[in-house]
Amino acid sequence: MPILSFSSSDDLSILRNEIEIFNSDLKLLRDSNWLSSEENRQEKKHASIVFAVDNAEQAQKAIKKKLYIAELQLVAESYKSAETKTQCQKCQKLGHSTKHCINQECCQICAEKHYTKHHKCHICQIVGIECSHSKLKCRNCDENHKSNSQICSIWEKQASLSVSPAKSDVAMKNSADFAVVISHVR
Ligand SMILES: [Zn+2]
Ligand SMILES: [Zn+2]
Ligand SMILES: [Zn+2]
Ligand SMILES: [Zn+2]
Repeated sequence: MPILSFSSSDDLSILRNEIEIFNSDLKLLRDSNWLSSEENRQEKKHASIVFAVDNAEQAQKAIKKKLYIAELQLVAESYKSAETKTQCQKCQKLGHSTKHCINQECCQICAEKHYTKHHKCHICQIVGIECSHSKLKCRNCDENHKSNSQICSIWEKQASLSVSPAKSDVAMKNSADFAVVISHVR
């Protein structure tokens, strides 16, 4: 989406109207919002927006055909950010929950093959938690932090994977299930 045309929150309401008028079978649940932060938008001319639609069928329709917004033709892709932020507490990988894990257990503290709760320090004998002797290792990037560390670069990578590359212009999603990313027609 062109950022300048829709810079205020009033503009985002107008945008919602436009989307509904020019795509008569789409119904938005609430105003759309920018996918990236205001800071991140400053150097760009185009950025993605997110909006929620009424049901999965509408999301599917939006994915299949072009949308007309602000005199632009846009295409939709599905938007998945919620699940990429899930981290398994058993194997420490991203994208699935502990309940559904079929991988071997991996320690969140040292990345060895044991459950985090069985992690043991051989110096102070403390079990299941990090101590000052812990040699931290991340199972996702091999750096010396815990696997759930927010400084891990894997989180950023996951986040950018959920949005389609530079061409991506508009995104829409339902906060629950019907998530779609819309990108500019090439
Ligand atoms: Zn797992
Ligand atoms: Zn361990
Ligand atoms: Zn210790
Ligand atoms: Zn890491």
